[in-house]
Amino acid sequence: MRLPPGRYNRMAAGRMSRRFCPTSASENLLTIEPQLLWESGKRLILLDADNTLLPWRSEEIPETSRLWVSRAQAIGFKIVLVSNTRNQARLQMLAKELNVTAAVGKFKPSRSMFQFAMQQTGATPEEVVMIGDQIFTDVLGANRSGVDSILVHPLAEREFIGTKFNRLLEKVITRRLLHTMQSEEDDLPIVKPQGIFQRKIVRQFAKFCVVGGLSFLIDYNIRMTLQFAVPYGGGLLSDHVGNVLMQARIGTLYARDAASAFFPIASLTGGVIALLNSFFWNRKWTFRIAGAEERAAQFRKFVIISVSGILLNTLISGIVFNLMHLQDDKVGARVATVLATGIVAFWNFFGQRLYAFKKDPK
Ligand SMILES: [Mg+2]
Repeated sequence: MRLPPGRYNRMAAGRMSRRFCPTSASENLLTIEPQLLWESGKRLILLDADNTLLPWRSEEIPETSRLWVSRAQAIGFKIVLVSNTRNQARLQMLAKELNVTAAVGKFKPSRSMFQFAMQQTGATPEEVVMIGDQIFTDVLGANRSGVDSILVHPLAEREFIGTKFNRLLEKVITRRLLHTMQSEEDDLPIVKPQGIFQRKIVRQFAKFCVVGGLSFLIDYNIRMTLQFAVPYGGGLLSDHVGNVLMQARIGTLYARDAASAFFPIASLTGGVIALLNSFFWNRKWTFRIAGAEERAAQFRKFVIISVSGILLNTLISGIVFNLMHLQDDKVGARVATVLATGIVAFWNFFGQRLYAFKKDPK
């Protein structure tokens, strides 16, 4: 288990796990955008070496890491390597190659090397960000020193045996930190991966479609169950209630027999439960709204979008059907339904995304 890329809120973590909570998590060094770090006020980057800058024990800095460091330096960053390596000769060689310095002092999570780096460069804790791949050294040390940290995933699988043990504990901590995620990557100093399925809106739309499919199944099954499967007094509940409606002359207003008098009740029940299902899952899962505040207002907006979606569906279906039915009724009905459902899916998705579940800019 890994912390997904995003920003994390340490204060939302439990007292025990707070000290292990990074400011944010990123896929790797290259997905961090130095320009945005600079704009957020950072001036000193503390860089872990093994499995952050280069694979563990490697003597060769990947070209991509090298370029990243020189890009950060060109912006104006000071960079200090903060490593727990025992091989000082190798560390000095890496530092020299990158034209940076290496901190000396007690191993992370001690504050020692963090303080050394800040003293050397004159940076205040607010201006510092630690980038590293380990919670118990890089993140904990940063938190103890009062500096922000970005946790990256280790570059390679090969690791020091002690580190492998730490990874087991990291999993426990990670589970406790997941809920402190504040936002996904879109307002982070992180470059988004470019693949289309990595894009947040595409993922959201896929989730939205899954929720829609689930709601359809729920709606369908509730309707069918209520209409054809719930027994009552030797017959069906639908017939019984339908008969009552017919006798009370309510059903006769819109239906020819008891079964069809009941059907709107079955539809409405299925529809309302499906709507609640969509609201719940789209809020929690698709658009990741945590907490209960504003839930009532969001639900009101959600209903407005959904009801206007139904009206839009009826309107589009009607127009398309009327334009096409001259040739063939069945084809007309099918095309009208598919087209209207497709358009309304987008209407609902963007309505929920931009209106009902829009997050306040903080
Ligand atoms: Mg490391």
